[in-house]
Amino acid sequence: MLYKELLKHMRKCPFCTDGNRIIKQNKFAFLTYALAPYSSHHLLVIPKRHVFSINELNKKEEKSVSDLLEIGTRLIHEYGDKNCTVLVRDGHNNKMKSIDHLHYHIIPNHRIGDFDSKGKKRRILEEKEIDRIMKDMKSCLESIGK
Ligand SMILES: [Zn+2]
Repeated sequence: MLYKELLKHMRKCPFCTDGNRIIKQNKFAFLTYALAPYSSHHLLVIPKRHVFSINELNKKEEKSVSDLLEIGTRLIHEYGDKNCTVLVRDGHNNKMKSIDHLHYHIIPNHRIGDFDSKGKKRRILEEKEIDRIMKDMKSCLESIGK
């Protein structure tokens, strides 16, 4: 079955309901494998509480997630994969994210690639684009009080 087909039939959050896929857990998070992996030994770290964003985690949950990310990447390296990519899926479900529940992918030997999110070849930013990004992000920092 393809991942897209599984998603069509999913009625409940799979990260809240599927407790038998746990490789390792602690008080606030668990380490599991990806049901539809990008590569062999693709792992996931999932907070136990159904949250959508990193910003919703409390300090204890952040520590639990961090501890399992460290264990997961050690497992990948111990198994023999030289590198891995940690990818956080934050925010609400839309066409770019299949499952609402915040989760962290640990993907062995995954190349991010030469294409951007729109499928265009990645390019180096121009000075004016860098200036705009810096201005926008610094303005946002002020608005969130950081
Ligand atoms: Zn959930």
